Amino acid sequence: MAVGSKQLGTKLRHKHVPQRMCVACRQSEAKRGLVRLVRDASGRVLIDSTGRLQGRGAYLCQHAQCWDVALRRRTLERALRLEGLHPDDREMLRAFAAGLGSPMLTQTEQETDK
Ligand SMILES: [Zn+2]
Repeated sequence: MAVGSKQLGTKLRHKHVPQRMCVACRQSEAKRGLVRLVRDASGRVLIDSTGRLQGRGAYLCQHAQCWDVALRRRTLERALRLEGLHPDDREMLRAFAAGLGSPMLTQTEQETDK
């Protein structure tokens, strides 16, 4: 009769902090430092604030700069295997990025624009 517990020496448990890579700047960060984006079955992109949505996912830092890069260079499309971003999604992502603020980007052009 088989005894229920096989003695495999599996005591080696790494304490693994999940790391994810931003698709724009390619920096790895602990998962919660990044925003997860998910492509759903119909090819639309959602911001996955719970981290639980099913689908192909990509991560971006919480820096507007990375979002800008991802949207401009089609990095996001590639990461999510999309042929193109739906215009509404693009808007939504832009708006989200704007809400993140970008301390690094606001230096030059904004000054004259009032
Ligand atoms: Zn980044």
